[in-house]
Amino acid sequence: MSDLSPLQKTLLDWFEKNRRDLPWRKRYDPYEVWISEVILQQTQMDRGVAYIERFLERFPTMEALAEADEEEVLKLWEGLGYYARARNLRKAAQHMVAEHGGTFPENAEAARALPGVGRYTAGAVLSQAYNQEEPIVDANVERVLSRLFDVDSPIKSSQAQSFLWETARSLIPKGLARDFNQAIMEFGNLVCGKKPSCMFCPLTEECEAYYLGIVDHRPVPAERKPTVPVEVASGVLVHDGYIFIQKRPEDGVWPGLWEFPGGNVEKGETPAEAVVREFQEELEWDVAPAEKIAVIRHGYTTFKVTLTAFLLRFTGEYVGWPEPVLHDATEGVWVSFAELDKYTFPAGHRKLIDMMSRDMRYAWLV
Ligand code: SF4
Repeated sequence: MSDLSPLQKTLLDWFEKNRRDLPWRKRYDPYEVWISEVILQQTQMDRGVAYIERFLERFPTMEALAEADEEEVLKLWEGLGYYARARNLRKAAQHMVAEHGGTFPENAEAARALPGVGRYTAGAVLSQAYNQEEPIVDANVERVLSRLFDVDSPIKSSQAQSFLWETARSLIPKGLARDFNQAIMEFGNLVCGKKPSCMFCPLTEECEAYYLGIVDHRPVPAERKPTVPVEVASGVLVHDGYIFIQKRPEDGVWPGLWEFPGGNVEKGETPAEAVVREFQEELEWDVAPAEKIAVIRHGYTTFKVTLTAFLLRFTGEYVGWPEPVLHDATEGVWVSFAELDKYTFPAGHRKLIDMMSRDMRYAWLV
């Protein structure tokens, strides 16, 4: 380690003493590193580890994922959001089985040609699984480097990003990419976090932001996109103890996920009127709200969604479990409340199911 700069040596020494025992660090298997990295792009480490373990237990190999049913992959992904990433995992696995002998390619260009694999994921797998000198810049690395080198432009600007990627590449010590990339990410997670522990930091002498007393101003935040409020109404239609759900089309928002039918509340409409109209437009069914179940607020990309959910009943003459005329879905099924668990729903609808399962008003249904 004699050729290392003080910065490189300090980070590697720190990592040696503080590395956490994480699922993909047992073997640095390319498939496991890839799955772990994609899941961790969606969520915090603590929550992410549980998802990674569950995913790798169900799909332990590239072949198992390639052969998987898309519905099952989406179900395992439920709660992480950005479902396109789960679909891309499966598609990329199929491509790797067909074209790369079932392993993650060692070549950066081939890696980046895989569905859903960009500069970050390629760098993460190539450096950790194959020890290649490819950089990684995630939110942790952005924090550490923007403080160490006093990056004064907004962190997501092209100027800041090209500096960070170039710096991350130039810092990797020869032959030590795997440990160094993990060291800097782990350090950003455990020491140089959103509230940095400068008092206990071994890098204060290397840190420009610390020297200048501007740690709290680095990184410079990205310009925020304004949030857009959206009001939607959905209906839990119950008939003879069963509930109707439908599968969303392959294009548009939440492709392939299941939902309680409904849609946007239009200008001048109440949520109750909107849900009745939506059932008529989407399914050609006449329904009426029996009661309001809940109002659920949640965020989706830049949208701030207010979802009003109703318990619905048929108003017309419907015998048995009627077949819907699907105008905005690819499938529709009648299921018991317990069976809802088998299907993948967007976050707001899953929240609604959880609320109903705890609400005594619906003990007769649950
Ligand atoms: S001194 Fe503070 S801001 Fe600088 S690297 Fe250490 S923890 Fe981060």
